[in-house]
Amino acid sequence: MKSFFQYMGLISFPEAPLYKLCPHLSSVSSGSVTIFSVMEKSRQNQKHLITSPSFLALMKETGSSKEKAIILKYALQNAHDFGGKVNLQAVLGAVLREKPELKKDVPKVLKEIQNIAKEVEQLSPAALKEKLKDIAPELLQKKEEKEQGPLKPLPKAVPGKVSLRIAPSPSGLLHIGHIYGTSLNYEYAKMYNGKFSVRIEDTDPEKIYPPAYDLIVDDVQWLTDNGVSGVIVQSSRLGIYYDYAEKLVTLGKAYVCTCDADKWREMKNHGTACSCRSLNEKDQQLRYAKMFNEYAEGEAVLRLKTDITHKNPAMRDFGIMRINEHVHPKTGKEQRMWPLMVFSVAIDDHELGITHVLNGKEHADNALKEQIIMEYLGWKPPVYGHWGRINFSGFSVSKSKTRLAIEEGQYKGWDDIRLPFLRALRRRGYQAKAFRKFALEIGLSLNDKTVSMEEFWKMINAFNREIVEPRANRYFFVDDPVEITIESCSPREVQVPLHPDFPERGKRTLKTTDTFLIAKNDYKQLAESYVHRLMDCCNFILQGTTFRFLSQPYNNYKNAKDRGRIIHWLPAATKLQAEVLLDTGLKLSGVAEEALQKLPVGTIVQLERRFFARIDTITKNKIMLWYLHK
Ligand SMILES: [Zn+2]
Repeated sequence: MKSFFQYMGLISFPEAPLYKLCPHLSSVSSGSVTIFSVMEKSRQNQKHLITSPSFLALMKETGSSKEKAIILKYALQNAHDFGGKVNLQAVLGAVLREKPELKKDVPKVLKEIQNIAKEVEQLSPAALKEKLKDIAPELLQKKEEKEQGPLKPLPKAVPGKVSLRIAPSPSGLLHIGHIYGTSLNYEYAKMYNGKFSVRIEDTDPEKIYPPAYDLIVDDVQWLTDNGVSGVIVQSSRLGIYYDYAEKLVTLGKAYVCTCDADKWREMKNHGTACSCRSLNEKDQQLRYAKMFNEYAEGEAVLRLKTDITHKNPAMRDFGIMRINEHVHPKTGKEQRMWPLMVFSVAIDDHELGITHVLNGKEHADNALKEQIIMEYLGWKPPVYGHWGRINFSGFSVSKSKTRLAIEEGQYKGWDDIRLPFLRALRRRGYQAKAFRKFALEIGLSLNDKTVSMEEFWKMINAFNREIVEPRANRYFFVDDPVEITIESCSPREVQVPLHPDFPERGKRTLKTTDTFLIAKNDYKQLAESYVHRLMDCCNFILQGTTFRFLSQPYNNYKNAKDRGRIIHWLPAATKLQAEVLLDTGLKLSGVAEEALQKLPVGTIVQLERRFFARIDTITKNKIMLWYLHK
């Protein structure tokens, strides 16, 4: 997993710079890594209408290589959709979605994409369309669907040039509260064939949960179908922040304030500057240097000189760097100077070429501060867009409390089935696209909304069902089984469709005798003298305590005057023990169709008449499934 992320351009450790891991990435600045140069470089403006000889060679070659054919079709699609240019990361994402096993060798795939992109970018728009129509006409239609996407356009967005980011803090993992923002940023990047970065904001050494660095990225990759263009970690970029802070001091735009915090706040609230502000440049530089090794934590703050009488007191000379001696899991004791969030955010948004910042409206004040910083450094700020709060009523989840509860053993881990964290929801079988659809439905809106947990899950489950229902084959699971014998029922092989809507998938075979297992709950509800049916098997009647065979055809049951229940069942000889872990943490135990044992772990099935579930583990005579939804 890790090497995949590293090759995707993700970097979390200053000691393992990306340029060493990925030979294709060339732009590296001190302490920072950017993967974006790779995309710009491959772009060419020249277009020929005539197919180049090497392209023809490539087309021939693809006959011998399935991977190349897959790359080619997505490269053609991408170029066709976005004015002739190929976004390598977007193509990589699409290729890996179609052939996940290629994740093992991302550098090779990426190189292949680069080669193919070069050829594809030579083609004229007409030739692109022609080729795409030839080899993958279904991808031509997709563009038309995309154009009618539900998201409103972003201001000043140029297709192919848009760059968005999310900025999670590594204090814990992602839960349902993060789905909207992450999905929305990603969907906009996708809409404009742009970049979507993850920036891990870990400049507060006191709030870090070290495993979160990798796990967050893994979750975001999952949520976006490997749509992450790059990952940066702020603690690996301290040198950059120091350089810009020094520049601001030299420009006379920042000063080191050593006043008592409470006293300073009082002065600021009155619109009065402290004496530190007017010290000369030399003194400022000396004081700035002392922040690295002399002042103690809390003794000095680097402040930006703004307007000390600004009508919004929050804007007055706000802090940009501070001392924090807490040991940081990445940099250890080595660093004590940390940027405050607005500062590192402003620098990084500029350095990464972020064009659009979309986040909650609680960030609006920070956005103003970031713009002041950018203005002082002579930079053009990105376009900011904010969304209203989504209040999940009846839902409160705290990353730190959950972490504590996991450490205390109340939960088995972040993927405990009772938790609304992505890791648990993934394990249950929720699909990323269902969560993203939720974000698309809401769109970028400033209105606050309250969503009850019930409404939320109803919506998510409906979206998820749309995706899994056609895919999930049907199987029988009988919990709390009761054995019944149906008199006069002769042994046979019963054929049951894997999916009623897709007969071409075939049938499963159950060998029956006159003895069956049915769920205790069904057993209790079988009314006497009614005609009941074992699904796809036979009709029977309960007389006193005796079950008697009536017939096989469904119509006999359907037309029966005293029609009872249709229930699922299993042959009494079924050996496969099955457990289903419910979202409450409780388990259902019983038996299940033995065919389930041959399916890969991770398969989502419908346990007929019950619910959808995901196969979690299979051992010799036992299968464990996780409850998904009804
Ligand atoms: Zn001061």
